[in-house]
Amino acid sequence: MGDERGVDRGRLSRRTFLRYTVGTGVAAYATTAVAPATAAPSEPDWTGPGAAGDSVLTAGDGTRFSEATAIFNTRYDSTTPAAVVRPHTTDEVARAVSFASRRRLPISARSGGHSYIGASAADGALVVDLRSLSMPIAYDASTQAVTVTPATTLFELQTFLHRSGRALPLGTCPTVGCGGLTLGGGIGVDTREHGLTCDRLVAATVVLPSGRVVSVSPDRHRDLLWALRGGGGGAVGVVTAMTLTTHEAVGKDLVLLGFPDAATADVIAGWASWLPTVDTTSWVGVNVESDRAGGVRCGVLIAAPVGAGTEVAARFAAAVGVTPNFTAAATLDADGVLLRLAGGSPTSPRHGFTAGSDVVTTISADTAEAIVAVVRSRSASGGAGSVIIDPIDGAVRSVRPGASAFPCRRHLAVVQWFVDVDPDGSYDSATSWIADAHAAVRPASDGAYVNYAEPGAELQRYFGANLARLLATRAAYDPTRLLRSSTDAGA
Ligand SMILES: Cc1cc2nc3c(=O)[nH]c(=O)nc-3n(C[C@H](O)[C@H](O)[C@H](O)COP(=O)(O)OP(=O)(O)OC[C@H]3O[C@@H](n4cnc5c(N)ncnc54)[C@H](O)[C@@H]3O)c2cc1C
Repeated sequence: MGDERGVDRGRLSRRTFLRYTVGTGVAAYATTAVAPATAAPSEPDWTGPGAAGDSVLTAGDGTRFSEATAIFNTRYDSTTPAAVVRPHTTDEVARAVSFASRRRLPISARSGGHSYIGASAADGALVVDLRSLSMPIAYDASTQAVTVTPATTLFELQTFLHRSGRALPLGTCPTVGCGGLTLGGGIGVDTREHGLTCDRLVAATVVLPSGRVVSVSPDRHRDLLWALRGGGGGAVGVVTAMTLTTHEAVGKDLVLLGFPDAATADVIAGWASWLPTVDTTSWVGVNVESDRAGGVRCGVLIAAPVGAGTEVAARFAAAVGVTPNFTAAATLDADGVLLRLAGGSPTSPRHGFTAGSDVVTTISADTAEAIVAVVRSRSASGGAGSVIIDPIDGAVRSVRPGASAFPCRRHLAVVQWFVDVDPDGSYDSATSWIADAHAAVRPASDGAYVNYAEPGAELQRYFGANLARLLATRAAYDPTRLLRSSTDAGA
């Protein structure tokens, strides 16, 4: 699978290396949107004529129902959807959606179940869990495009494509569904060179809130394709198949650099001014985490073409003017890179977390100092917390900001604030820290990434100048807001 050099995992946590594995609004919203539909007062007859499907689970099904409602983030284990249906075909999805639509029941689509805010397990909703859709992954060598169900996991999809020497620009968590990832954007180590996952979406099958099934492509329902490319899950319909164009799968050099705590702000600010000078075939991200004892750990991950990793690392250290105190490097083939970034396993255990993000066009020395100060203050309180700074320059900029619903096309990075919360830990303190973090970078912030949604954030933050068009498209297809969107919190 490749060779590794200089591995010293003692100083930076395994999570730091692999993580990279993490590894609303506006007046327009208030005036044009209607209140989301709420659950019908009386219990629907799930199994009667015209019912939601053969495999409907409700609270009366006990443990099977709790298992069916559980999503990746254990914070939402207490949400209580009205029912969970697991259709096998697009027609069965349409039947379930029509059933909910007739009863004005809210609908929560679910692909991989990794919504940050529990949107795929919303209270009172009919969850349409797409993980039983039976269509196999299909790669068409003549068009170099792949067609999948949205519940296909990132690991499953990328592994399948590698067998044909192909790949997609996906995120790193192995169990995320390509549905939610694509509909909200999709960033990962191929983003600088190959763009967002949503930029690869060329066709989709969509069940509209009315129950009607439509084929979406650049020639048909272009307004829907525009919204599906970054408008967030559940914006306009339930997607049951998506076709994405692929690129050649290649191996990479992965290099992790650790830097002294005291140099962290210099590393961040230096990274921000250096990155735009680096060829987009290389991806470089920064991760700063609390050591829970008043200090911070600073790591930089480089994913570069095979043979280029060491040189890119040396250029980075020279540019920021700080010598790394830790280096680990590996040359891996495409499967090896996938597995390493996935954290060494195709599965990732459910756990509790809360997060938020800021999108920035640049990071000045002052902003870098502010980022470090906020992580340091979390650390001083003994709390876990990290900031993950992922580039969104390069190929992301080759698409006009208004050409798809994803608006951040002139930006440098997504700055994600992330807190793992232990089963007995406090979400209040984590949420309060994230609010402090937003405040610390407010002068530099130009929005947020919808796939890192947080409860209560203004839609304007996610969609910027594209919000009005997104809301108009949504209103045209879902006038009574039956669909729970990726910004509608689960509880
Ligand atoms: C551990 C972890 C790591 C992550 N790493 C990355 C990363 O590297 N890069 C990145 O960009 N993002 C990353 N994410 C964020 C991820 O992209 C979003 O959470 C994404 O929305 C998850 O998609 P899903 O299908 O798994 O989730 P779900 O919870 O199933 O869906 C998310 C939203 O989309 C809606 N939806 C789902 N399927 C459909 C459908 N078929 N039709 C219509 N609406 C639908 C849901 O109703 C919900 O609102 C990560 C998330 C986690 C938890």
